[in-house]
Amino acid sequence: MFNLHDKVALVTGGNGGIGLAMAQALARAGAAVAVVGRNPDKLAAAKRQLAEAGGSVRTYAVDVCDEAAVAGLMAQVAADFGRIDILVNNAGINIRKPVQDLSLAEWHQVMDSNLTSAFLCSRAAYPHLKLRGGKVINIGSMTSIFGASFAPAYSASKGGIVQFTRATATAWAADQIQVNAVLPGWIDTDLTKRARVDVDGLHDRVLQRTPAARWGRPDDLGGVAVFLASAASDFVTGTAIPVDGGYSVQA
Ligand code: NDP
Repeated sequence: MFNLHDKVALVTGGNGGIGLAMAQALARAGAAVAVVGRNPDKLAAAKRQLAEAGGSVRTYAVDVCDEAAVAGLMAQVAADFGRIDILVNNAGINIRKPVQDLSLAEWHQVMDSNLTSAFLCSRAAYPHLKLRGGKVINIGSMTSIFGASFAPAYSASKGGIVQFTRATATAWAADQIQVNAVLPGWIDTDLTKRARVDVDGLHDRVLQRTPAARWGRPDDLGGVAVFLASAASDFVTGTAIPVDGGYSVQA
């Protein structure tokens, strides 16, 4: 029931961190993977890593905030692989400033990268997903649940991801498309390396608050990706699943 042979997965931000780990897990389960990102060096490295593990992989240098480019991306991936079954909306950024210091341009940059991109990719993928039924996995965050004083636009975008997930899940359930969100806890990636420098005491606060008593690793997100991409989750839709070592249930 977790077998993804003959399935094609598109992972945005699949050229690093959590996205790459999810792409690897999907490839190991048998899926062919289309990896999307902007940085050509990271794309080339991700392609090498996925191919070494035996996966069928192609990379696409696309800005997922660009409406026309996203439309072209879906058409190209469908042409290259013959189908799209799984969409992982994982690309994301953060700009860490308190709300009073955030410019409108910075607000839009974060909202576009984290939330509007998920809308654009989902909408463009829909005609392909609808052909055989499919799976959408949207990446939220602990800030989908909690406030973070240093991340107002990021928190708004990740809260929005959960509601966007629910709306899309209800809209597409009749098409046999399941749409779910994953809410990672604190995971050690490029994104959070910077946060540990910018936010005083963050590293230790995360350790103290997480019942599992460690930061997460990108690989910790592989299992949930396979579950939500496979037939194992065919009656699961509209949920937001924390993968956080217990962070969100700690009093
Ligand atoms: P990374 O910075 O390692 O990965 C983010 C990826 O998104 C990069 O590979 C980047 O590719 C890509 N990306 C960003 N903007 C765009 C864009 N406009 N177009 C195409 N690709 C883009 O961070 P993480 O792996 O940590 O983050 C992945 C997701 O997980 C994000 O949505 C993040 O918010 C979320 N998350 C992370 C947590 C953590 O603790 N690490 C916790 C909760 C959620 P490129 O460099 O080529 O632009």
